[in-house]
Amino acid sequence: MFILVIGMVSWFIIRHPARRRARKAAVTVSQRGIRETLLMTLSAIGLGIIPLIYIITNFESARFRFLSFADYPFEPVLAWLGAAVLATSMWLFRRTHKDLGRNWSVSLDIREDHKLVTRGVYSFVRHPMYSAFWLWAIAQVLLLPNWIAGFAGIVGFGALFFGRVFEEERLMLKAFGDEYRTYMERTARILPGIY
Ligand code: SAH
Repeated sequence: MFILVIGMVSWFIIRHPARRRARKAAVTVSQRGIRETLLMTLSAIGLGIIPLIYIITNFESARFRFLSFADYPFEPVLAWLGAAVLATSMWLFRRTHKDLGRNWSVSLDIREDHKLVTRGVYSFVRHPMYSAFWLWAIAQVLLLPNWIAGFAGIVGFGALFFGRVFEEERLMLKAFGDEYRTYMERTARILPGIY
């Protein structure tokens, strides 16, 4: 559980400079809407709020052990595996922010002077940041021995991913045309050679 908390703190540390950088670049086209806001909220609940509530309320000594009815026995091997997956996710998350630079956005935006990034981790898959989030959601399953808190991330981020990725690709095609089309032909979405 503490490993996941350390992960969450690192997540904010990695993301902070990206937020600052991105603020400087004006947005020219934005696809944000109620749907996007709803999906981002679902994802934040599944990857953040539910696991945090679980972690905070699930000490042996806690009086109100929320979600404890859905606990299953803790397996240290799974937790070690989870820590490794989380570390990989953090590494990839950091790389994607470095590679995307000022083109990053928390939602679907095209910025002034937006450049299509196809280098670095973006040469292997076209949504490496989402790959990092999937890895994170898998780590959450491995680290939290609870059917609800563990799987909430997969459900929450899954909704955001499938609700957004096709929209995002349409937006990129509109903005970059053939450049994105050729990029799509030679890359997978999140898992090289598979999907
Ligand atoms: N889907 C990507 C990026 C997520 S951030 C990933 O998973 O790594 C979302 C923002 O990134 C959107 O505003 C979109 O315009 C921008 N974006 C997505 N792919 C990009 C690329 N290859 N180059 C530049 N910007 C990109």
